[in-house]
Amino acid sequence: MITTGIIGYPLEVTLSPRMHKAAFKEANIEGVYLKMVVRPEHLKTALQALKMNGFRGVNVTNPHKEALLLFVSDITDTAREVGAVNTVLFRDDEIIGDNTDVFGFQRSLDNLPLRIGDTAVLLIGAGGVARAAAFGLSQRQLQDFFIVNRTVSKARHLAKKYGAEALSLDEMPSALSRAKLVINATSVDMQSSVIANLSKDSWYLDLNYRYTLQERNGIRMVNGLEMLVYQGARSFEIWTKKKPSIETMKKVLGM
Ligand code: NAP
Repeated sequence: MITTGIIGYPLEVTLSPRMHKAAFKEANIEGVYLKMVVRPEHLKTALQALKMNGFRGVNVTNPHKEALLLFVSDITDTAREVGAVNTVLFRDDEIIGDNTDVFGFQRSLDNLPLRIGDTAVLLIGAGGVARAAAFGLSQRQLQDFFIVNRTVSKARHLAKKYGAEALSLDEMPSALSRAKLVINATSVDMQSSVIANLSKDSWYLDLNYRYTLQERNGIRMVNGLEMLVYQGARSFEIWTKKKPSIETMKKVLGM
């Protein structure tokens, strides 16, 4: 039996259990995936308890992605680069932190019919997921790369690391008129600030998957479900050493 799950707080809605349960079933693996609400002050104790109770690993969501770095025995290069852990593997006596958001994001980019290297890209956000996206984008040799964030100092830090141009939210309209791909990696719906300023054949990728995206002015809209599936698939592989059926995972999410 492989026991896994997701920890977060308050962790109200998550599609991960549905996706992983279907993947276990399809792969003929006796596995469980539990949703576990863990308060920040209990994170360390919870990790020890999961390890002692034979969990193979867990996904980690807000607000624990950064705090977890303090409690792991080792982290992968990707998690170190991004400064956030979204997947934990309990192996022997170790707690290993990984970040599969980068892989999930890269795959969702690959599935867009765009030559990313030739595209002017605007990334909105500088939190955990934005850092994963910025790292992923930095590997695509972008011609124009803008990073916008409410707290502009964080955008500057990220932009400096990955050779992008940092802008405040007030400065965003000028970059929007040049961007062919806009990625919203904030925790708020940015459609009203973005769409009116985008040119006709642009793409808007919102890494959140809960908003209703309204196609307007010929702008193509994509949500974060694709990324969710691929980051989950990579976690599944880390825990089971088997590739899950992407088709099955997508099917249970209605994709
Ligand atoms: P986070 O670390 O808390 O970062 C939040 C970001 O949103 C920061 O850049 C923050 O700006 C910005 N923000 C928050 N409130 C804002 C407001 N009122 N106006 C403007 N900007 C605001 O969160 P995260 O973990 O990166 O998650 C970001 C999004 O990614 C969430 O919507 C989440 O659902 C989604 N997500 C998707 C997947 C997937 O697989 N598709 C996986 C994980 C997360 P400041 O720096 O100024 O605070």
